[in-house]
Amino acid sequence: MEGMGLVAQLHRSTICPMCRDRFKDPVLLDCDHSYCRACITGFWARDGARVLSCPQCHRVFEKKNLRTHVKLAVEVKIAQNLSAKTAQDPLTPKCRRGRRGCLPVSVIPERKDIGKICSC
Ligand SMILES: [Zn+2]
Ligand SMILES: [Zn+2]
Repeated sequence: MEGMGLVAQLHRSTICPMCRDRFKDPVLLDCDHSYCRACITGFWARDGARVLSCPQCHRVFEKKNLRTHVKLAVEVKIAQNLSAKTAQDPLTPKCRRGRRGCLPVSVIPERKDIGKICSC
């Protein structure tokens, strides 16, 4: 039971807050927030690169300092492997719209049979 909570937590922690998909090439900002490299560079490019700020905490950075988030990249791989396994499980909730990369997660870790939600 404990394990399932951890899995749900792992799935949540491997979702990019910008694209709501699993991190691709995750990078870590100086404020310790993480995004896909393409998401944050795209965000900064859209903003005209006047200010480099974190979309989550709005901390402003003087220069682009994108560190590859190795630990998170590993977690993304683990989460991918786990969902590949659970995909064969008929009890695993599917995204109602069949959106690729949508990860329904249990909102109540103790009751993994109820309260599954997906992000779309
Ligand atoms: Zn992203
Ligand atoms: Zn931040």
